[in-house]
Amino acid sequence: MRHVETIIVGGGPAGSSCAAELVRARSDVVVLDKARFPRLKLCAGWITQKVMDDLALTPETYPHGIEKLTIKTHLRGVPFAFNGLPTVGENYSIRRTEFDNWLLKRSGAEIIEHQVKVIEHDEAGGRYVIDGEYSCVNIVGAGGTMCPVRKTLFPAERMKSRQIATLEKEFEYPQRGGTCHLYFLLRGLEGYAWYVPKANGYVNIGIGGKSRWFRNTGEKIHDHWRAFIGDLVAGGMLDEDTAEGLKEGGHPYFLYTHDGEVKNANAYIIGDAAGLATVDLGEGLGPAIESGILAAKDILGQASYEKTAMTKYSFGGVMQALARRTIGRYHTRGRA
Ligand SMILES: Cc1cc2nc3c(=O)[nH]c(=O)nc-3n(C[C@H](O)[C@H](O)[C@H](O)COP(=O)(O)OP(=O)(O)OC[C@H]3O[C@@H](n4cnc5c(N)ncnc54)[C@H](O)[C@@H]3O)c2cc1C
Repeated sequence: MRHVETIIVGGGPAGSSCAAELVRARSDVVVLDKARFPRLKLCAGWITQKVMDDLALTPETYPHGIEKLTIKTHLRGVPFAFNGLPTVGENYSIRRTEFDNWLLKRSGAEIIEHQVKVIEHDEAGGRYVIDGEYSCVNIVGAGGTMCPVRKTLFPAERMKSRQIATLEKEFEYPQRGGTCHLYFLLRGLEGYAWYVPKANGYVNIGIGGKSRWFRNTGEKIHDHWRAFIGDLVAGGMLDEDTAEGLKEGGHPYFLYTHDGEVKNANAYIIGDAAGLATVDLGEGLGPAIESGILAAKDILGQASYEKTAMTKYSFGGVMQALARRTIGRYHTRGRA
């Protein structure tokens, strides 16, 4: 059995941010991830200035492609003049396959490819035991929306979830436009669609909405996807041949209410494992990084890890109210 002070389950942005902070303090830490990096991650890859600041990152110091975004919002298919983004500074897009791999390597932590299955808490010994192979004093669940640490160590009845259905495709399309578009309530969809240009001629197109809305209305997400692709072709944003060959992919995504705990004895959940994506847009990279850093500071005895410290909304003002119709309606505690 390998003994480590802190084991982080999951090496996405939440896990790697936590790892980087612990490594910086010379704390004993290992990251276990089931995937071999670089790995594919479905994501539009929009990041805010705050994300850049929290990572001490500038476009000049990032070694991969990064695109500065101009964001245009549309309501029911009609351009909406006010985009309402409260972000101070710029917005950017990155490709997750590059970004996550770079962040994880940059953390300096030891990374082991291992799919975590069974977690036991040996209370008498003050340790968590993982698959009978690893043991640790602190365990950090950063395994995303299906994190095994959350499932095992955090009571399900306090973590109500809301399921989001998503479809998206990222592909090379050098003739793409330079503006990022967000489409709210398109054909009544309780969700939104996006067109995010990325550096080096890539674009990410996607659609997401409340699973409950699809169930209740009998509408099919694939029909909405095809209609959206048709709009992009009609608007000259995508050519017909490319549109026909697009093979979209998706997976259900869970947002948890903010009522459950994020810390339980020496177990922590961060990022998507704790359902921290913003309640209006499901923007999860910022809160994942914020929570990773704060959980590490809690482990180091430098701060207290509280869910209320994390960014809760992407938008401000009227756009926040509108966007809450798309994915979030839960009353949650936290900072606005
Ligand atoms: C379609 C879509 C588009 C999105 N677009 C945006 C966007 O534009 N901007 C934004 O801010 N957010 C966006 N999000 C949300 C964002 O992707 C997440 O909030 C973010 O990835 C959370 O990071 P994380 O580190 O918590 O989890 P993840 O990035 O999911 O990382 C979890 C890691 O845990 C590993 N893992 C899982 N299970 C195990 C296991 N049993 N054992 C070991 N390892 C395990 C996985 O391999 C993975 O590497 C989007 C989400 C979706 C679904």
